[in-house]
Amino acid sequence: DLAMYRAKTGGKGRLEVFQPSHHTAMLQRDAVRAELSGALDAGQLQLHYQPIVDIPTQRVIGFEALLRWRHPERGLVSPLEFIPLAEENGLIVPIGRWVLQEAIRQAAEWQNRSPLGRLRMSVNVSVRQFQHPDLVHDVADALARSGLEPSLLTLEITESLFAQDIEATSRKIGLLKDLGVRLALDDFGTGYSSLSYLRRFPIDTLKIDKSFIDGVATSLEGHALVAAITQLGQNLHLEVVAEGLEDGDQLQALRALDCPLGQGYHFSRPLSAGDAVKLMLIGKKPAAAAGIPVPV
Ligand code: C2E
Ligand code: MG
Ligand code: MG
Ligand code: MG
Repeated sequence: DLAMYRAKTGGKGRLEVFQPSHHTAMLQRDAVRAELSGALDAGQLQLHYQPIVDIPTQRVIGFEALLRWRHPERGLVSPLEFIPLAEENGLIVPIGRWVLQEAIRQAAEWQNRSPLGRLRMSVNVSVRQFQHPDLVHDVADALARSGLEPSLLTLEITESLFAQDIEATSRKIGLLKDLGVRLALDDFGTGYSSLSYLRRFPIDTLKIDKSFIDGVATSLEGHALVAAITQLGQNLHLEVVAEGLEDGDQLQALRALDCPLGQGYHFSRPLSAGDAVKLMLIGKKPAAAAGIPVPV
């Protein structure tokens, strides 16, 4: 599994060379799973922070916390690889709780010290973590202990949540909104949910999936889709974030569409906490932070 992942990401055409047998893949997945359960206690998990930028002013308005696993032998393991495993075996619950605490603690520290003013923090919450009975308590507890203003916290959920018990989901969303936090629909447009959920649930933000942003400046259809989603957001009074914005042409297209917020490598990769602070000190334009060493 790991070898396949490396081969897939390491370069085209290498997939065949490294493709392990199904059995080997399963063994490797088991190994990763076993090691993951010790990763939290071993201090191998860290958060990186990717800036979210106000497109008209190019100011950083907040960060998304993104989980990183620094494995002693395997190096940096992608969340795309280990989150699904953690989701399968339930480890996502303690890991997700740690992510919430750490991201909220960090946001509270920045709330009082950042020269950029009131920065927001976004935290991804997976389906299984969302469904866990402790979630609302965990969020409330982390907020209370840190002193973070609840409106500065955004929880990112996905449309897959709406494929679950809709009554329970609805109740829990209500409880979270009662805490005063914001809710974002991540990877918007890639799921199967009906648009009626946008009316039914008190969602604050749509994050347009990268796959749409990829085509915003290069294809008529791509542009039309992003225009439609941006318009939908405006009409429903939802905030819209363009995810995975990688170049100036995309930025220009999004600006012309009045898309308010963007996030992507064009502005900055996810940064260590230390580099995020450097970016805050450099000032409002993340593009000016080109000198910052960016971890991959
Ligand atoms: P996501 O929440 O949609 O996060 C955005 C992903 O896109 C991140 O990948 C980010 O590094 C990447 N990205 C941002 N800008 C660009 C760009 O311009 N180009 C490209 N190619 N990629 C860009 P990452 O950090 O690998 O995370 C992948 C996914 O893993 C996340 O997608 C999220 O679903 C999940 N994830 C990450 N951290 C957590 C966590 O703490 N908890 C949970 N439950 N899931 C997490
Ligand atoms: Mg996200
Ligand atoms: Mg996303
Ligand atoms: Mg995504």
